[in-house]
Amino acid sequence: MGRIVVLGGGESGTGAAVLAKVKGYEVFLSDKGEIGQEYMEILRKWDIPFEQGRHSEELILGADEVVKSPGIPSSAPMVRALKAQGTPIISEIEFAGRYDTARKICVTGSNGKTTTTSLIYYLLQQAGLNVGLGGNIGKSYAYQVATEHFDYYVLEISSFQLDNVYDFRPDIAIITNITPDHLDRYDHNMENYVKAKFRITRNLRPEDCFIFDSDDAITIAQLSRIVLQCKMLPFSQQKEDLDQGAYVKDGRIVLKYEKDESEIYLDELALGGRHNIYNSMAAALAAKAMDIDDETIRAALRSFKAIEHRLEPVLSVGGVLYVNDSKATNVDAAWYALECQTRPVVWIAGGTDKGNDYSVLAPLVKEKVKAIVCLGVDNRKLHEAFEGIVGSENIIDTLSAEEAVKECSRRAVPGDVVLLSPCCASFDLFTCYEDRGDKFKAAVRAL
Ligand code: ADP
Repeated sequence: MGRIVVLGGGESGTGAAVLAKVKGYEVFLSDKGEIGQEYMEILRKWDIPFEQGRHSEELILGADEVVKSPGIPSSAPMVRALKAQGTPIISEIEFAGRYDTARKICVTGSNGKTTTTSLIYYLLQQAGLNVGLGGNIGKSYAYQVATEHFDYYVLEISSFQLDNVYDFRPDIAIITNITPDHLDRYDHNMENYVKAKFRITRNLRPEDCFIFDSDDAITIAQLSRIVLQCKMLPFSQQKEDLDQGAYVKDGRIVLKYEKDESEIYLDELALGGRHNIYNSMAAALAAKAMDIDDETIRAALRSFKAIEHRLEPVLSVGGVLYVNDSKATNVDAAWYALECQTRPVVWIAGGTDKGNDYSVLAPLVKEKVKAIVCLGVDNRKLHEAFEGIVGSENIIDTLSAEEAVKECSRRAVPGDVVLLSPCCASFDLFTCYEDRGDKFKAAVRAL
């Protein structure tokens, strides 16, 4: 049947290897770093040969097809060597899609992917459908295709996972929004990043749907350059005259799908913040396109619970509310977090800067932030951007979540909010954003 080599032994690579095995291929998995214990166990259980700590050319270059994990850049020497000899390189999503007949709702974008994906998953579950959740979230899609049977999948797909997608086709594709992020992986070229995101639309048929943010200038500009044959379902908080899609009018979301029109009151939505109005509209449109009835949609959007590390209320201590938005690893995400605050904010920001331009946050900081507690190794850019606004005595450097929370508790008074929404990646002081959020929550609980 041919030989499949999987590069990368994390969640997606291990899942792809299992699926290849189930489908009768000869499989080999190679990871240049260390493979986690739980993944080695899966590989052994399925009798899949693997190596770690190196890429053995003689074992890899003989592949008929290679499944590359999204974490491996296309500039990696082994990937270049495979490309040079013409070996097809695909992503786990592409591979799994070949064997999956379920209807698929696929979500990509710069921000809001996990929230929107989780909302849709919840909506479909509430409607009683047999639905799986995967991609960049939870269990590997390929692993589930190998071992489960679902009628529907909701998949969160990052741009790295889309890079090596060719024939994969969602039934419903969603781009939540496009703002600069991860540009280091796209030769610092925004156009490459936008094109990567739009790969989600490349195989849509007339009966499929594309759901997109029509207030997003980058999305709209790209749509003017390409032709899509599918049903177009825009969502907007600025326009009130869409004949298909979702928009906001008089405190309500209006949903228009085919001949049907329905409404949801904004103050019924479980998730707060302007960004979550966008996410809720995207999710509701996907549900409409899946023929889910209005009452189920409304009830689900009302009862959905906030996801960990995304504007997650932690605890009120002495009248000060602590909010964990550790997942806000770029400026746009932090903008929405600040924008929806109605109380004076003591803001925890900082970490590994990805080339941020903080100037867009200045008006919000001026209006809402009384002090900034920097949580990062190098905080110079934050000082430069905001000292003139909050005053140098109100920007403090800290090096641990504990220290940061203590500093905040000293500065906050009853009625304030302490918001961890760092705008930056976490790798300077933490292993990942979850680690940062967990340590923040532990420090708050210890107050
Ligand atoms: P992703 O999976 O794309 O990283 P998440 O749903 O995990 O998105 O949210 C990441 C961060 O972005 C959180 O801080 C969240 O508050 C913020 N956010 C969520 N949805 C949006 C949106 N539609 N626009 C801008 N920011 C958003």
